[in-house]
Amino acid sequence: MQRLARSWQRAGTHVGFVPTMGYLHAGHLSLVQRARKLVGRRGKVVVSIYVNPTQFGPQEDYSRYPRDLARDARLCREGAVDVIFAPDDEQMYARGSAGGFSTFVVEEGLARGMEGKSRPTHFRGVTTVVAKLFNIVQPELAVFGAKDYQQAAIIQRMVRDLNFPLKIVVAPILREADGLAMSSRNKYLVGDLRAQALVLRRSLEKARAAVRQSSRPVPAARLKAGLKRFIERAPAARLDYVEFFEPGTLVPVPSVARGTRMALAVFIGKTRLIDNVRL
Ligand code: AMP
Repeated sequence: MQRLARSWQRAGTHVGFVPTMGYLHAGHLSLVQRARKLVGRRGKVVVSIYVNPTQFGPQEDYSRYPRDLARDARLCREGAVDVIFAPDDEQMYARGSAGGFSTFVVEEGLARGMEGKSRPTHFRGVTTVVAKLFNIVQPELAVFGAKDYQQAAIIQRMVRDLNFPLKIVVAPILREADGLAMSSRNKYLVGDLRAQALVLRRSLEKARAAVRQSSRPVPAARLKAGLKRFIERAPAARLDYVEFFEPGTLVPVPSVARGTRMALAVFIGKTRLIDNVRL
């Protein structure tokens, strides 16, 4: 992959990159379309498909995360992706003779709250694998989804701090017709869990309405308490966190106004879902 990337560079070809964990859906494909628009018809779009073990905690769903490379390859072909990069664990994290893998990339500011608090080793895995992928694919731009808002902010920070020579583009969240944010993990939502998962979207809407109807900023603590009650009225739902923060710095705000970003994580049964919105 790196050899191919360097040959593209020598030829002056524009390269756009979309990193994913596979089990692709329309949200991923919207990032592919965005990359295509940016690199043009003669440019190259690379999609990586890799379920990265280092970003999963020991109790998380790494082993049962949905995988279907044949289906992903078909979707990529239909989406005019030029190259799928699908490495295996031994290629990414060699254990072999030279002493194994021991270098990690850690962002120490933005990664502290929210997802980073609930999943302490998650972002270390994300920044490490994304740094590796950037070095392998050497794209001039990479497209990330606003679905993982904190992740996109951390990647932007990493790129700035470590002088990665590429541009990060953040694309909007794609949703199902009823408002559920598209996610590979939605596959876990069987039976009536699928309907209960709508509490995430409804919480975002409820908070947005509260903020927009109020003439003054609304205390974050009051909103959080109301939303927790609302969410946990769904029998299978348990709130992990809800946070209100400045969109650029991710710093939590004590009072919430138009333009504040809201993010939440909710367990629906055993499935942990996230969503976020600009209020
Ligand atoms: P994942 O395969 O879940 O690691 O996601 C790969 C990329 O797709 C990340 O940049 C995600 O933010 C993005 N993504 C996932 N779901 C959506 C969605 N519903 N809308 C837009 N982007 C998404």
